[in-house]
Amino acid sequence: MDRVRQSAPQLAQIIPYDPKYIPAEAYMSANENPHDVDEDVRRAIERRIKNVELNRYPDPLANELRDAIAEANGLDRDWVLIGNGGDELLFDTALAWGGPGRTFLNMPPTFSVYEANARLLNTTVLEVPRDRENEYAIDEERVLELMSGPTSEVDFTIISNPNNPTGLMTSFEFLEKLLASTDALVMVDEAYFEFSRQTMRPHLEAHKNLVILRTFSKAFSLAGVRLGYILAHPEVIDEYKKVRQPYSVDAVSQAIGSVVYEHRSTFVPAIDEIISERDRMYEALRVIPGVMPYKSQSNWLLFKMTDAGQAWEALYEAGVLVRDFSSAPGLEGTLRVSVGTKEQNDRFLLCLRDFALRKQED
Ligand SMILES: *Cc1c(COP(=O)(O)O)cnc(C)c1O
Repeated sequence: MDRVRQSAPQLAQIIPYDPKYIPAEAYMSANENPHDVDEDVRRAIERRIKNVELNRYPDPLANELRDAIAEANGLDRDWVLIGNGGDELLFDTALAWGGPGRTFLNMPPTFSVYEANARLLNTTVLEVPRDRENEYAIDEERVLELMSGPTSEVDFTIISNPNNPTGLMTSFEFLEKLLASTDALVMVDEAYFEFSRQTMRPHLEAHKNLVILRTFSKAFSLAGVRLGYILAHPEVIDEYKKVRQPYSVDAVSQAIGSVVYEHRSTFVPAIDEIISERDRMYEALRVIPGVMPYKSQSNWLLFKMTDAGQAWEALYEAGVLVRDFSSAPGLEGTLRVSVGTKEQNDRFLLCLRDFALRKQED
């Protein structure tokens, strides 16, 4: 056959996810940890992997890692589910709570994967845009209005906290109020929890509709391995089990995750450095003419500037890759820089300052 039937109709609107990851000297575009796993931990990983039976299917629920995460969070294992990256669990959320005739409430600009998953599954998407003039805060009144009460049409929402790519946290006071006023599923995406050091974990037992998402990709330097997890009430976890791919988390990833999680305290100094570098970069960006950084409780900074698209080019020519949001809806004129090593951060700041000063002279 020289042709193929059309794919599902909703795919016509969908553009495949593109991280825009291109060769560079300083990768500052994907919010990864700039330091790879250290030598001692790497050796421990190698020792553990040696014993993995590659011919056997992995434990579907990754119970060894699951127990470690449960214990660290003061929970039983049935409150935890491991996924193939946080992304798989985001997809599973849309599979289990979305679909035709169901509604997802989105608060853009935010992580674009949320909306893409909902649309892929023919879920209705309601939007409550964030306030650009006020650090991209959520329109709390409008969200409560749309989600309150048993007759609300909203089935689920996801709040990135801190919000990627804008940087600030949503107040726990609002989240609690929301959780108490709706029976919709509320996922709080804590992918950057190790940098914000604030979590909704204490509110988990009180709200069956709360799901917390975390990942190994950022603070724990494992973006290449694909591990994430959720914390939620066992009844909610059971719904996720119905939609997940049974063997999505492979045996090698499980082994690596267990070793890294055992050694998680060794990541703290690097996390401390990233936090202090973020604050240093914020202050340095503030004094570059024409540049307006947004406050961040994460490992990146969003900043607004004139000629943002050109600035992206100039940075890239200098070997520095940052994320270009300069023509993204609601984010026009902004770029996002992930905190790198001290040297990378200096290089980024120097180059951006040069660009801004050149522009000022023009
Ligand atoms: C990075 C990220 C995730 C999860 O990423 P994985 O690598 O799939 O674990 C989830 N949410 C947000 C907002 C992120 O930035």
